[in-house]
Amino acid sequence: MHYAPILKPAGACRVPPQLADYETVCREFSWEQVRAGFAGLPNGAGFNLAHEAVDRHAASALREHVALHCLGRDGASTVLTYGELRVQTNRFANVLRGLGVGRGDRVFALTGRVPALYIAALGTLKKTSVFCPLFSAFGPEPIYQRLQRGDARVLVTTSELYHGKVAPLRDRLPSLQHVLLVDGLPMETHGPGVASLPALMDAASPDFTIPPTAPEDMALLHFTSGTTGMPKGAVHVHEAALMHYATGRYVLDLHPDDVFWCTADPGWVTGTSYGILAPLLHGVTNLVDEADFDAERWLRTLAEKRVSVWYTAPTAIRRLMRLPGEPRSRFDLSALRLIHSVGEPLNPEAVVWGERALGLPIHDNWWQTETGGIMIANFASMEIRPGSMGRPVPGVEAAVVRRTPRGVEVVDAPGVEGELALRPGWPSMFRGYLHEEERYRRCFADGWYLTGDLARRDAGGYFWFVGRSGDIIKTAGHMVGPFEVESALMEHPAVAEAGVIGKPDPVIGELVKAFISLKPGMEPGEALRRELLGFGRKRLGSAVAPKEIEFQRHLPRTRSGKIMRRLLKARELGLPAGDTSTLERED
Ligand code: AMP
Repeated sequence: MHYAPILKPAGACRVPPQLADYETVCREFSWEQVRAGFAGLPNGAGFNLAHEAVDRHAASALREHVALHCLGRDGASTVLTYGELRVQTNRFANVLRGLGVGRGDRVFALTGRVPALYIAALGTLKKTSVFCPLFSAFGPEPIYQRLQRGDARVLVTTSELYHGKVAPLRDRLPSLQHVLLVDGLPMETHGPGVASLPALMDAASPDFTIPPTAPEDMALLHFTSGTTGMPKGAVHVHEAALMHYATGRYVLDLHPDDVFWCTADPGWVTGTSYGILAPLLHGVTNLVDEADFDAERWLRTLAEKRVSVWYTAPTAIRRLMRLPGEPRSRFDLSALRLIHSVGEPLNPEAVVWGERALGLPIHDNWWQTETGGIMIANFASMEIRPGSMGRPVPGVEAAVVRRTPRGVEVVDAPGVEGELALRPGWPSMFRGYLHEEERYRRCFADGWYLTGDLARRDAGGYFWFVGRSGDIIKTAGHMVGPFEVESALMEHPAVAEAGVIGKPDPVIGELVKAFISLKPGMEPGEALRRELLGFGRKRLGSAVAPKEIEFQRHLPRTRSGKIMRRLLKARELGLPAGDTSTLERED
């Protein structure tokens, strides 16, 4: 079905949009100009993300302005002004200093969305250490892979998560020296290398001078999944702040009085770039909700907290679409000015539903862990073409390309599919995959960064998502690498081989489905299927584990021994098998 463009006549925006005229802003845009808007550290000591996000405002008229408004799962809430956030993050930086944690050392976090997580993130950046957030619904295996690959030195977590998931891994993580429990009671004994964070924070000084920081110093490490191999750690630097700021301005359209809510967890890149950094760089109030998705709670939060700019994801929107009636008839959404979505394709009907049921269309945008910030977007002032990701952000050059034996060729013609490519040079571009130089190098060719996504561009310059070029799975907006899931399943004594695919699902986009062949002598059956589902959940956590398991006598393999996930998927969907010339004979 074709959806008509949603036009935005002049004056349709309640406040004048930061990007009034796309062409003019793009033409006049330069990163130097954005850079010039930041003061940098005092005395020319460089450029530090946390200074720009917190201390700069704490030293200004924004000192008493609310920086973080954190809603607890149980209904309690914590409010921190920019002045208070400055003190708390100073204390955290001093805690790290006291532990001898320094420049470039990796500080991981594995907690829910509690204030300590946000304080730890910004305090770590102040100390010029590297912040690496993990999703708390990960099971022990994904946690181990990331802590180990990221050379974790410090882990900020809760008692429950530590004892349940991390303590049994400790012997295999020799570089993990300090575990800081956000709920650790001061007088409790926590075991060697485990301490109460509140006790350390209380004892730490509220004053901290940020050490010299180079814009290219490593600031953040975000793990992302690949088609092959284990997760890779994308390295981001302090200068990424320029991108967070520019997109906060031109895409999110932040204005000083906004209450901004990004529903993503900092364990995924959106939850850090936009759930922590962009709003704070703009000095606005950043709302955080510890609780997981709950339609009624979310709509109540939008209404009662007077959220003006909301950044969420297609899975959540599709869940809201299932509610009977139209939310705006039950909730006062009058403060809401703009809705944005990212993470997976946003169905055109969701864009239109937003307009009807929430009173505003939904603005889709596109980016990925490697890009560190939004690259392609629908803008407040511009027509929305439902189903399109929008147009490149000012300062970003995007193209549809083809890889040919002669090199990368740009596809100029509108409507032709190819790989989405970006011209390197934007400030939040990842600077490497940690310890995997070759893997990083392979992402670039002929002056382009190749995103691995397939797209087309229309004659008006809008980009349309077509699909991913690999076997990567997007489930509820989260990237899951099939290899990681297969590896965990193969550790079960009954499993001979496993092939994992994303099976289309109307709400969560794709669900993780595993095909399993069993070792000789093992019989498939309901009890074993359940056991394997439980095994997967225990190992991988609910965010990553397969939701469906199917037994097969043999899995299709290439002659070189690789499981043909593509064929498993085609069969699952009842589609033609495609090229099977490399298929080994199946019995
Ligand atoms: P991640 O690195 O986990 O943030 O995932 C990035 C990937 O999510 C992209 O490469 C796309 O495949 C997908 N993605 C993100 N945003 C969108 C969008 N607006 N439309 C379609 N796919 C998206």
